[in-house]
Amino acid sequence: MHLDHTHDPQARSWLASANAAGTDFPLQNLPYAVFRRAGSAEAWRGGVAIGDQIVDLAALATSALLQEPAAQGARSCAGEALNDFLALGRPVWSALRHALFALLREDAPAAAQQTVRALLLPQAEAEYRLPTRIGDYTDFYTSIHHARNVGRVVRPDNPLTPNFQWLPIAYHGRASSVVVSGTPFRRPWGQAMPPGAQAPSFGPCRRLDYELEMGFYVGPGNAHGQPVPLAQAEQHIFGMCLLNDWSARDHQFWEMNPLGPFLGKNFCTSVSPWIVTMDALAPYRVPFAHPADEPQPLPYLDEAGNRAQGGIDVQLEVLLQTAQHRQRGLAPQRLSGTSFRHQYWTVAQMLAQHTVGGCNLQTGDLLGTGTISGPTPEEAGAIVELSVGGTRPIAIAATGETRTFLEDGDTVVLRGWCEAPDRARIGFGACSGQVQPALPAVA
Ligand code: CA
Repeated sequence: MHLDHTHDPQARSWLASANAAGTDFPLQNLPYAVFRRAGSAEAWRGGVAIGDQIVDLAALATSALLQEPAAQGARSCAGEALNDFLALGRPVWSALRHALFALLREDAPAAAQQTVRALLLPQAEAEYRLPTRIGDYTDFYTSIHHARNVGRVVRPDNPLTPNFQWLPIAYHGRASSVVVSGTPFRRPWGQAMPPGAQAPSFGPCRRLDYELEMGFYVGPGNAHGQPVPLAQAEQHIFGMCLLNDWSARDHQFWEMNPLGPFLGKNFCTSVSPWIVTMDALAPYRVPFAHPADEPQPLPYLDEAGNRAQGGIDVQLEVLLQTAQHRQRGLAPQRLSGTSFRHQYWTVAQMLAQHTVGGCNLQTGDLLGTGTISGPTPEEAGAIVELSVGGTRPIAIAATGETRTFLEDGDTVVLRGWCEAPDRARIGFGACSGQVQPALPAVA
C-alpha cells in the first residue's frame, strides 16, 4: 500500500460538495456502489460517489473520456453487479481510480468537466442494491474485547476460548439474507432456552441485537486447493464496507454449541451500499502486533508487510433511532464508537486463514470482520455488551425510554470514516436497518 497524488489532502474537485468539510466522499475517496434513480425502472449499474453525487460508470464508459485500461474498468461496471470489475484486479482498479481523479479534480479540462457533470445523479435521488453477486459470506470473530465481553455472558470463568489468540475464527454465514442498507427485516422466530427453564420455548426473538462490523469484498479469487499466502492476501481484497450482523441472542446461545451460529445469525445481515477501496484506505494503514506477552502469530499468519501496516484506523459509531425519536423529530442516540485498529487479526490474516486449507474464495464473496469492540466498555459494538447481557438497561436520553435489546421500530445506523492530520477525511456513508414486528405466527 503506497500513497500517490490521489491521496493528496490538498487536492480539490470542481464539484463543490466534494470539498465540503466533513463530506464522506471527497476526491480522495471514490467508493463504488450499484445504483439507479429511485423508484425508476432504469437498469442497475455501477457508480462512484463524489460529494453528494454519483458518477454513472455505465455512461462514462461510453463517453470516450477514458483510456485503457481505465475504460475497461468502467465498462466492467456497467452491469447490475461489480463482479466483473472486481475480477480484473488492482492494476485496473488503480487505473480507473487515477482516471476518475483526473476527471473530477478542479484543473480537469472544461470540456471533460462538462461531460462528466452531465453523467451525475444526486445521491438523494438514488436507490441502491447489493454491489456484488455474493456467492458466499463468511463472518469472522476477531475483536478480543468483544470475545471477552460476550464470553463473560456465556462462560463467566473462562470468557476467551483457547483458539482465539492463535487463529482468526469464523463461521460460514448465509449469502442469501445479506441485504443493502435501508432494507427492513422481521424479528425472527426461533427456539430459545430461557435461564432455569426445563424445556426450550419457541417464539419471536426476545434478545435481538446488532453487531457493528466491517466487511470486505473478494477481488480475484484463488483456485481450489491453492492457498493465498499472507503477503499476497491484499491483492485479493477490493475494498471494505460497513456491516451489521443482526443477531438473535436467545436463539444463538441455545443453538450454537457445538457447531456455531445458525438461525441466530442467518435471518438478515445488512451492508452499506458503498465499497471504499483499499487504495483509498492506504493513508490510514497502521502497524499490527499482538501484545508481547500474548501468543504470537504462527509463521503462516506473520509477514513483514502485515506487521508494518496490516491494521486500518477506521472510526466507527452506532446510532439508535427509536420510533419515538422519529415521531418526535429527535436526533438518534449514539450508543458507542471505536476504531477498527483494535482488531486482534487483520483483513489479510483473515483471508489467508480462510484459504490456507485450500478453500477457494470467489470474486464478489463477502467476508465480515466480526463485531468491532474497543478496549473500554463504552466502545462495545453490540447491545448485549452495552447492557451486560440485558442486566443493565441503557437510558435513551431524549425520549426517556430504555433498552436492553432492540425493540420493534428501532433503526440502527452504523457510520464509519477515517481522519488524521495531513490526510483527507474519507467516509463509508451509512448502514441502516429497521426492526419490523415478527410474523404473527409461523408454521
Ligand atoms: Ca458477527
